Amino acid sequence: MSNAPRTQVDGVYHRKLGDVLVTGLSDGYVDMGYGIFRNIPEEETKAILARDHRTSPPRISVNAFALRMGGKTYLIDCGSADIMGPTCGRLPANLATAGIDPASVDGVLLTHVHPDHSNGLTDAATGRRLFPNAEVIVHESEINHWFNDELMARAAERPRRRYFEAGRTQLSPYMAADRVRTFKGGEILPGVTAIPAAGHTPGHSAYVISSQGQLMIVWGDTVHVPEIQVARPEVTMEFDTDPEAAAIARQKVFDMVVADDMLVGGMHLHFPGFGHMRREAGKYSLTAEQWAFDI
Ligand SMILES: [Zn+2]
Repeated sequence: MSNAPRTQVDGVYHRKLGDVLVTGLSDGYVDMGYGIFRNIPEEETKAILARDHRTSPPRISVNAFALRMGGKTYLIDCGSADIMGPTCGRLPANLATAGIDPASVDGVLLTHVHPDHSNGLTDAATGRRLFPNAEVIVHESEINHWFNDELMARAAERPRRRYFEAGRTQLSPYMAADRVRTFKGGEILPGVTAIPAAGHTPGHSAYVISSQGQLMIVWGDTVHVPEIQVARPEVTMEFDTDPEAAAIARQKVFDMVVADDMLVGGMHLHFPGFGHMRREAGKYSLTAEQWAFDI
C-alpha cells in the first residue's frame, strides 16, 4: 500500500450557471467544538451529528467561490491564509489548479470580514495586496464596524486580534490604494445583487447571481453547520455579532431561496458547497447538488 494516496483530489469544482462559470474552491476545513452552538442542548447536537454520520464535534468546510463572466474574474471571499492553522489556507493552491492567477482577479466580493473569509486578501507580514488588480466589494457596515476604535477597545482580546486587528490589516492596503467599494445593497456588478443579511456580522451579505434565467445565491455564513441549522434556523453561533438578528436573517434567506428555487452556494456547506433547499410541512431541508460531470 506504499502507493496509496495520502491527499484528496484538488478542491476545485466547476459548475455553469447560464453564461457564468461558477467554481467552488476549498480553503480547507476547521474543527469546531460543541461550544459554538447557542439555543440547542449539547446532547441534541451530538444526536443529530451521529444520525447523519458526521464528524462530531463538527468539522466544517471553508469554501470560496469564483465567478467568471463577461471576460472578468471575481472571487466571493478569499480564504484564510495562515490564521486558521494547517487545515486551512489551501485556497491559493486551488486557485492555481483552477487556472486563476491572483493578478487576473478583477474583484473580491466579501460576504463579511472574518478570518476564514477575508484573511487571504493581504500578506499580513508585508502588507502586499495578494490580488493586486482587484477591487474589494463589501457592505459599508463591515468597514464601519471593524474600523470603529471604540468597539475595538471594548472587544475581548481574541476577537480584537482576530476580527478587528486582522480585518484592518487585510483591508487597509486596499483602502490606501482606493480599491474598496462599499454598498448598502442592490446590483453591485452586472447580474450580481447584494442581499444584506446582517446579524452574523453587521454587514454580512449574500450575493445573488443571475444569468439566462438561472439563479444562484452565495449565502456566506447563513449556515455554519448545515445538519443543525437548516432544520433549526434558530440555532445561533458563539461568534455571531448579533445572534438574534442572525437567526432572523437566516430565516429570511431560506424563505428567499425556497420561493425562487435558487441554487445555493455556502462557505460552510460541505465542499464543493452547492445545494438545493426545500420546505415541507414548515421544515427546511438541504440536498447537496448532484455532481456535474460536464461543465
Ligand atoms: Zn465563516
